[in-house]
Amino acid sequence: MSDAWTRRRERMVRTQIEARGVRDPNVLAALAAVPRHAFVPEAVRSLAYDDCPLPIGGGQTISQPYMVALMTEALGVGPGDRVLEVGTGSGYQAAILAEMGCRVHTVERDPALAEAAAQRLARLGYGQVSVHQGDGTLGWPDAAPYRGVVVTAGGPRVPGPLRDQLDPGGATLVMPVGGRGLQELLGVTRRGSRFSTEKLGGCRFVPLVGEEGW
Ligand code: SAH
Repeated sequence: MSDAWTRRRERMVRTQIEARGVRDPNVLAALAAVPRHAFVPEAVRSLAYDDCPLPIGGGQTISQPYMVALMTEALGVGPGDRVLEVGTGSGYQAAILAEMGCRVHTVERDPALAEAAAQRLARLGYGQVSVHQGDGTLGWPDAAPYRGVVVTAGGPRVPGPLRDQLDPGGATLVMPVGGRGLQELLGVTRRGSRFSTEKLGGCRFVPLVGEEGW
């Protein structure tokens, strides 16, 4: 069965990711390597490589593969870069970043999801990812600054603490911002004290709940 999963994963990368214009070879290689089916519940495992988000329990979802690829490419990070993820969920996005050689800190608000993701990541060989439980809208100051910050839940605005934790030497934050149901994906780039924002398209994420969220 492992070969069948590999074939499905390669097809996913070709038809859903490359076909829509994602080009970063490091991102494509990571999506081809990380066993997405190991990050979703048994009941939806056969759909793991389909072109859609999937439920992961607790009312949360693992993002559509293309959205993960798009956000990861927009981050523009590579081997050795320190990256913060807000919204660990299943741990899949964190595993993609770890596979790319990034030093990953990920924060999840739901204790059960955080615990399950930490165990799953360790079991799959991504034990170097640091999983923290808490309100990620406050970032994770202990490991700051970050070259990349990726928020995988939608909020009303970019939280100030996340901007502050971007590396002044050059860093990017990617986050869905907008209403509770529909958001725009924003890319915020920091150079020194200058911030510039780019719009990357519409999206739908579960709500970012916390002090600087909903
Ligand atoms: N990146 C995940 C999917 C995330 S779903 C994956 O690859 O599977 C969004 C997650 O954000 C949910 O697990 C939700 O509990 C979490 N979340 C929402 N608000 C949060 C906050 N303030 N801090 C940390 N996590 C939060």
